[in-house]
Amino acid sequence: MDGKPDTLKPSGGPRQKRRYDDVFSVVRAMEPSYPVYCLRPDLLTKTAKRFISMFPGTVLYAVKCNPNAEVLNALYQGGIRHFDTASLPEIAQICETYPDAHAYFMHPVKARAAIRMTHKAYGIRHYVIDHECELTKVLEETGGRDIVIIVRLKTEDTGDSLYDLASKFGAPPDLAVELLRAADARGCKTGLAFHIGSQCREPKVYRKALALTGEVIARAGVEIECLDLGGGFPANYANAKPPPLENYMAEIRGGLKDIGLNPAVEIFCEPGRALVAAGCSLLTQVQLRKGERLYINDGIYGSLSEMVQVDIRMPVRLIRLKGEASETLRPFSLNGPTCDSLDVIPGTFELPEDVREGDWIEIDQVGAYSNALATHFNGFYPETFVEVHDSPPAAES
Ligand SMILES: *Cc1c(COP(=O)(O)O)cnc(C)c1O
Repeated sequence: MDGKPDTLKPSGGPRQKRRYDDVFSVVRAMEPSYPVYCLRPDLLTKTAKRFISMFPGTVLYAVKCNPNAEVLNALYQGGIRHFDTASLPEIAQICETYPDAHAYFMHPVKARAAIRMTHKAYGIRHYVIDHECELTKVLEETGGRDIVIIVRLKTEDTGDSLYDLASKFGAPPDLAVELLRAADARGCKTGLAFHIGSQCREPKVYRKALALTGEVIARAGVEIECLDLGGGFPANYANAKPPPLENYMAEIRGGLKDIGLNPAVEIFCEPGRALVAAGCSLLTQVQLRKGERLYINDGIYGSLSEMVQVDIRMPVRLIRLKGEASETLRPFSLNGPTCDSLDVIPGTFELPEDVREGDWIEIDQVGAYSNALATHFNGFYPETFVEVHDSPPAAES
């Protein structure tokens, strides 16, 4: 790294791509007063390879979880060629970046123009629906030739996932049966999809959802072409050590066997979080300490909103350039940079008792739903990404 550390936010323009051996080197070189995402491309690639090797079907990456170009590249390096997309811009991003990739329009409610454009400009064939009117829209806007209509099935909320993704979308089983028949009758290929909710902590939930899927397929009496098991695969957080991915895959294999699917049916899943959460940490800086309150430069309107929405605790560790920090830990609250009093992370975080202004706090496991959700509120927008080629610290409390 050359010369003076850039302690001011890089002005506009494309993000500089910078490569470091570890996070400490990032701090030493940049002494950043703004939040810095430390991407681990090697880990992202490895995670993608591992997931693909374990899942009995095709793995689609859910782009909304982290659409950063370097994240996508790392996953592509790991073999991801299929993408769960939900809007025209996401589909354009994927199709224009990776000519050999396949995008699937997995949003159950689409603008007519988006259906038309994605079909016409990008040749999209797969469209998700959960209502008869949406089926009509897709058929009218695409012409209906060689289109695969995937019916999103509402699954039971078992309370095992941190987010319920069946409350807003998804056709109940009776309606799903009707929609499969309607799509089939109108000359479409068909498929079924569900999403059991994000950060699912119980592998058996997939098996249960598959059982429901089996019933719906049998009742519909329609030959489906694909079955999409959604996302929901968990990441490790400081307060959550979910069962290993192997257990999820075992339940999925068991569930697929239970329903005796025609082997020609293509099996998809659409993980977001499980592919990217561990592949990025966030460097924040302490701007002021008031007793047990630390005011840092990122918060709930930036990268850290998930810790407000749901019971997720990201692991933290202190980084100090000069001198050693105390080995005694104490709980501190983390306050975000905006003027909003709500901009405080709930709960407390264990940090060295002598943490002080100017120290950095590395927040780990922030690759999922972080930069994707960040706002410009109050002028604080985290947008600096660097590459780090180490392994991030294991999730710890
Ligand atoms: C958000 C979303 C995903 C990704 O979910 P994760 O829990 O992050 O794996 C997959 N499919 C759909 C339809 C989604 O909305």
